[in-house]
Amino acid sequence: MEKYILYARKSTDTEDKQVLSIDAQLAELRKYAKDNNLTVIDELIEKRTAKSPGRPIFNEMLSRLQSGEANGILAWHPDRLARNSVDGGQIIYLLDQTSLNFLRFPVFQFENTSQGKFMLSIMFGQSKYYVDNLSENTKRGLRARVRNGDFPSTAPFGYLNDIRNKSIVVDKRYSPLVREMFDRYAKGDQTMENLAVFLKENGAITRGGKLFKDDKVKGILQNPFYYGHFLYNGELHEGRHTPIVSKALWDKVQTVIEQRGHKQPQIKPTIPFLGLLKCAYCGMSITAETKTKTQKNGNTHSWTYYRCSRKKRAVKCVEPAIREKDLLPQLSALLGEYEMSDDIYDFMTDKIAQDEQAESSSNLSLLDDLRMQIARLNAKQKILLDSYLDQDIDRQTFLAKKSEILSEKKSLEESLANLTTNQNAWIEPMQNWLNTAKSICSLRETDDLNGQKAVLSEIFGSNLFLHRKTLTQTPNGESPKTTFRKGAESGFCLWQKLGNLNQKIAHSGEDLDFFSEMVPRGGFEPPTLGLEVLCSIQLSYQGAYLIIPK
Ligand SMILES: [Zn+2]
Repeated sequence: MEKYILYARKSTDTEDKQVLSIDAQLAELRKYAKDNNLTVIDELIEKRTAKSPGRPIFNEMLSRLQSGEANGILAWHPDRLARNSVDGGQIIYLLDQTSLNFLRFPVFQFENTSQGKFMLSIMFGQSKYYVDNLSENTKRGLRARVRNGDFPSTAPFGYLNDIRNKSIVVDKRYSPLVREMFDRYAKGDQTMENLAVFLKENGAITRGGKLFKDDKVKGILQNPFYYGHFLYNGELHEGRHTPIVSKALWDKVQTVIEQRGHKQPQIKPTIPFLGLLKCAYCGMSITAETKTKTQKNGNTHSWTYYRCSRKKRAVKCVEPAIREKDLLPQLSALLGEYEMSDDIYDFMTDKIAQDEQAESSSNLSLLDDLRMQIARLNAKQKILLDSYLDQDIDRQTFLAKKSEILSEKKSLEESLANLTTNQNAWIEPMQNWLNTAKSICSLRETDDLNGQKAVLSEIFGSNLFLHRKTLTQTPNGESPKTTFRKGAESGFCLWQKLGNLNQKIAHSGEDLDFFSEMVPRGGFEPPTLGLEVLCSIQLSYQGAYLIIPK
């Protein structure tokens, strides 16, 4: 009489995904028993893996076989029974002892002969071999994927795992948020908390279904994945996925994070020109205060004044405070020195359009140069890998040097891409500048004080002082010997040129040949000054416009 114990084992190993689930196993085995008229005295379900010996249900089954309660086992496949040599040996031993006489598997034919037992032991051995090799195979597979540029893990926020192609694709829903986060943070006035709120407002949640906290936000901003590389096992790799942000923007964000450290940025001032001015006497920043007074008749009266913060202890500062109503006209007048008339604006816009057409071949040598540098780095990277594989250098040196090369290469590739796909990249910032300069006219007529402040800080940077209630560009209150304006050091200051031009026009009182003042001899071509200016398009176009040969 054949009496079977039905044995099903659930797999907890991820590699067994293709194996039938426990329900499917049971269903198949019951059907098999019915079709073959097998007597099943019990169904045992094991939930432990068969990698190592010591499964309670399996052991129970063996003792019940030994006690003669049953003499056969019905299971899906030999690998359900044993994947380690101890369990496999026990099954064979019971067969030898004849406590176990029948083994039935829907997918494997077993005959209780010496040859059958030999085959069975091979099946068990194969299972063991499979287990042994599994982790190694998985690792090897991962390494191969990594070498191909595939990130072998869960896609970061803003990306999705494409299961079918085993690739990582841009998430159309969240990737714009990621780009926006980088843009915002690069400006330097955002905190991780702000960005967490930003994500919350836009309905973004983590994969775990939670809201983003500061540390997660920081993790996003510091992840090289977003510009096209990825870290795996502490090593930086070139990815095949589409970048969401440029390397330049990513670098900028890292600089801001570094500069800021753990410091929180200052709370945005509610008083419009806070943070713009410095005291001419002691150099400390000018702060503002608002006073409110209730008059006897119950009316309240409030006014704002600006004064030196007097943070420098050693100096007894004597600069007087100034009322906002006295300061605003001065700021507005100063701004007026830099507004751009429609004439100049139109002329410049035309000129840009002309030069946009003319510009084409001048970048060729630069392109060649870039391509050569990239090729050189590729060769270098190969040599580096060779010397690592030859064990000439240790892993740490290899990793450090490799990230260095990859980083440099990425920047060059970006410059190349900028230059090839967007040869006229200088036009947009130039046009933006023209628009800002032109907008000053209308800006002065509005009460958009924050807008005025933004333009003033663009023109003057941190070189605007208060001296005896008067605006000045020199810290000691004397008439300016040199301009302190932003960008003046490098001779690239468009604002300065515009200011000079406006002065000339005002003094001459007639139509001046202002165009010679604004336009350098070389015309509007973008610069071929070398690689260092490519990192900042803004600088590069200003360089082209403002190196004026006398
Ligand atoms: Zn002072």
